[in-house]
Amino acid sequence: MYSTMAKKPLLEFTDRGIYCSQGKFYIDPWKPVDDAVITHAHADHAYVGHKHYLAHHLSREVLYYRLGEIQLQTVEYGETVMKNGVSISLFPAGHVIGSAQIRVEYKGEVWVVSGDYKTEDDGISTPFEPVQCHHFISECTFGMPVYTWKPQVQIFEDINNWWRSNLHNGLATVLVGYSLGKAQRILQNLDLFNGKVYTHGVIENTNEALRRNGVLLNPTERITQESIKEEVRKGIIIAPPSSVGTPWMRKFQPYSFGYCSGWMAIRGAKRRRAADRGFVLSDHADWDGLISAIDATRCESVYLTHGYTATFARYLSGIGFDAHEVHTLYGGEEEEASLQPSPEERGLEAHEQDNRNANKEVLSFGEDLGEAGGTPS
Ligand SMILES: [Zn+2]
Ligand SMILES: [Zn+2]
Repeated sequence: MYSTMAKKPLLEFTDRGIYCSQGKFYIDPWKPVDDAVITHAHADHAYVGHKHYLAHHLSREVLYYRLGEIQLQTVEYGETVMKNGVSISLFPAGHVIGSAQIRVEYKGEVWVVSGDYKTEDDGISTPFEPVQCHHFISECTFGMPVYTWKPQVQIFEDINNWWRSNLHNGLATVLVGYSLGKAQRILQNLDLFNGKVYTHGVIENTNEALRRNGVLLNPTERITQESIKEEVRKGIIIAPPSSVGTPWMRKFQPYSFGYCSGWMAIRGAKRRRAADRGFVLSDHADWDGLISAIDATRCESVYLTHGYTATFARYLSGIGFDAHEVHTLYGGEEEEASLQPSPEERGLEAHEQDNRNANKEVLSFGEDLGEAGGTPS
């Protein structure tokens, strides 16, 4: 990394998480530490058990809801916190409400840890902002060209039309998306002229935490024992992945069940969850988003923490980046992990890939495809 002399890098990858020895803090550690800087409140980044937490102020209530009584300091984007001479500041990651990239600077050396991010403005999360740095630690959950997202306005047009046609056909509408991020993004983009929005308790708890944090969300009604089935069936039900196939969900029969996830871009995911409709909607950057985000940092080197790390590192090296694959425990995000392709499906993906690559210049993914990683652990 340094041509002059063997200096200790400002950030290192340890078995507890990303560590800054100069500042004596960790970023998104997965084992208990004294001082943790948290990119966002998803379970694979915000673990319980640290002595002190630093996060964006819009993550506050969700962190309390998920982790209980923690010692938490919150900051605004762009605000600087000093730890043992190291300056730490947070920048929008556009992933979910309150998500941040962590910028760390010491003696002119700048590192940025992306956490999870997406480059499309979803209308509810503060939009992603590229931050120039020497070293960029990036996710690459969807680091394959097959993952190319359509603008969300098109996806929500499909979703709203599907809801209308269900109403017309006497079907209830159940739309599944994970509880922090996807659920609110769906909520804010539904055509409420169609009807009311009902929520599963897990999602409503998250909505309430965000509202306590001052976030304005469209009205929702929590589904309880007292809810009247026929009323609920006239609206739309937003449910978490954990509710799929449960008696809770079967109560609303007959229904049409849609699933929102980036994994819906591949055939296997929809079949595996027996969804009637798969909507390709992700809170992660797609292939082009990853490349443009990495490019915009103007970094000297990039470290890939989770996703298709091996193949994406090879692609980046091929276009001139100093790219490295690193081992972390990120990526088991909420229930999304269960949608990720199996090894056999990765074979199928490779095939789809070949078809799409006909007029797109990418490297050959070769023999690595088998173990390339949606599931980093
Ligand atoms: Zn996340
Ligand atoms: Zn994650």
